[in-house]
Amino acid sequence: MKLEVQSVRKTFVENGQTTIALDDLTFSADAGEFVTLIGPSGSGKSTAFNLITGLTMPDQGNIILDGQRINGRTGLVSYMPQRDLLLPWRTIRDNVIIGAEISGQARSKAYQRAEELFPLFGLEGFEKAYPSALSGGMRQRAALLRTFLLGKGTMLLDEPFGALDALTRYDLQQWLLGVWERFKPTILFITHDVREAVLLSDKVLVLTPRPGKIKLEVRIDLPQPRDDSSVEFIKLQSMLLKALQER
Ligand code: ADP
Ligand code: MG
Repeated sequence: MKLEVQSVRKTFVENGQTTIALDDLTFSADAGEFVTLIGPSGSGKSTAFNLITGLTMPDQGNIILDGQRINGRTGLVSYMPQRDLLLPWRTIRDNVIIGAEISGQARSKAYQRAEELFPLFGLEGFEKAYPSALSGGMRQRAALLRTFLLGKGTMLLDEPFGALDALTRYDLQQWLLGVWERFKPTILFITHDVREAVLLSDKVLVLTPRPGKIKLEVRIDLPQPRDDSSVEFIKLQSMLLKALQER
């Protein structure tokens, strides 16, 4: 699905203090495109996701999905929040079907759909395990499966690999590319890591410090799999890092 964010402004008022989180934020993601947002902490990245999911309303501007204005409308995109925890008292199988369960789908049907995807998500054999029995990487894949099973054509992933060690992170990046290439959802991705951004994305958007707006848009035209030691890769990476660091 094609997603457009048009001139969006979002302010918060807390204890009489007004914070402009986003000001005139405009960008788009084509159907099947992998678009990454990077920006300093507090630049409004998570705020942008909350607006796109419809959990909050913009003060100004529009969120458009496949040509339809969806301001404040929930249930149209799949969302993985920044700290998406599994429920420790539920098995992996019961964790990943939560979305379907809440939306009233029959459990047996939800299980069936989940079971088909367990191998692809590297969770086969752990259907009835509890989250505490899984490695960090597996827990993150389970949280991604839960998001994936929401079944929308657009996935919003807010720093999904932020807390992982470098090696696990590398594995999950490659694995996510495989899932994306197979199903081609539109992906909006947030990261702090410019290397990760260049490795995964079709397009990278750099946000300014608060109030966030797009400072730089860079298309990454390198074929997959990408070589992070190539001259082109390193050039793009340092260009993004420079944009991120200058005030
Ligand atoms: P990022 O994800 O880029 O780190 P956020 O979107 O979380 O940034 O936050 C952007 C700014 O908006 C921050 O200054 C944050 O404190 C503020 N903010 C976010 N959500 C709220 C809220 N619900 N109430 C008040 N201020 C908020
Ligand atoms: Mg955030």
